[in-house]
Amino acid sequence: MGLFSRSKPKIKVQTSKKDGFSGWIKCTECAELIHASELEKNIHCCPKCQHHYRLSGTQRIQLLIDEGTFEELYSDLISIDALEFVDTEAYSKRLEQAKKKSGKNDAVIVGTGLVNGKKVAVGVMDFTFMAGSMGSVVGEKLTLIIEHATHSKLPLVIVSASGGARMQESVLSLMQMAKTSAALARHSNKNLPYISILTNPTTGGVTASFATLGDVIIAEPDALIAFAGPRVVEQTIRQKLPEGAQKSEFLIEKGMIDCIVNRHQLKNKLAQLIDYLTPSVPASQTCPIIG
Ligand SMILES: [Zn+2]
Repeated sequence: MGLFSRSKPKIKVQTSKKDGFSGWIKCTECAELIHASELEKNIHCCPKCQHHYRLSGTQRIQLLIDEGTFEELYSDLISIDALEFVDTEAYSKRLEQAKKKSGKNDAVIVGTGLVNGKKVAVGVMDFTFMAGSMGSVVGEKLTLIIEHATHSKLPLVIVSASGGARMQESVLSLMQMAKTSAALARHSNKNLPYISILTNPTTGGVTASFATLGDVIIAEPDALIAFAGPRVVEQTIRQKLPEGAQKSEFLIEKGMIDCIVNRHQLKNKLAQLIDYLTPSVPASQTCPIIG
């Protein structure tokens, strides 16, 4: 049994209170009262306005990968505080807290699995770990899965959710932009498809590297996708940004993304794209006369 079902949610009022929490939540988008269980059943989209709430890495794998087929890789890699960096708190302490809070070793989960029966290499960022920031381990795990996809001739899917580069790792984190991009170029040189899925929010060094290098770039509705966030841009250019700037619906008009896909259709859309982009019969065998 998965974490959520795909059947149509039935609106049911729950009146019993457990530990003082009735389960009712006010939607931050439409202000309607929604029940936590309905939200979960609706894949963490508001049942009233369809606002897409954030999914953890594990939930995202459950959404996109066929049940029981996901094989996690490189999960033993852990970040170290090589620079002994201290801001308001020591980086080593932040790492410890993030591990405890998320139950993960770092901000990305990578592995292989099936999407409607088609094998893919997949990387999923987890915003619950230090705001999905990209440090050495995130960059290394993504590079390893991209290289695995290249060697195994697999299509690649990366789901981004990130606050950008991990400041505490300074230039070591910035290097990950070049490293992941170079690995993607080698994957692309083998004519293998890469589908990038951008979720709310995808920003900074992640937007400026692998997230926007997809052959097809999909975004979830109303996702903030930016290099610098709106507040920083407004302060820098001393101008107000247009309404909805840096959101999926704005960016599709500007040609930065290819399509906006509702979470309920995301898996089927992904499967369809993989199908289009990876012919099951090698091109050389489709026409024996010419081939
Ligand atoms: Zn709502």
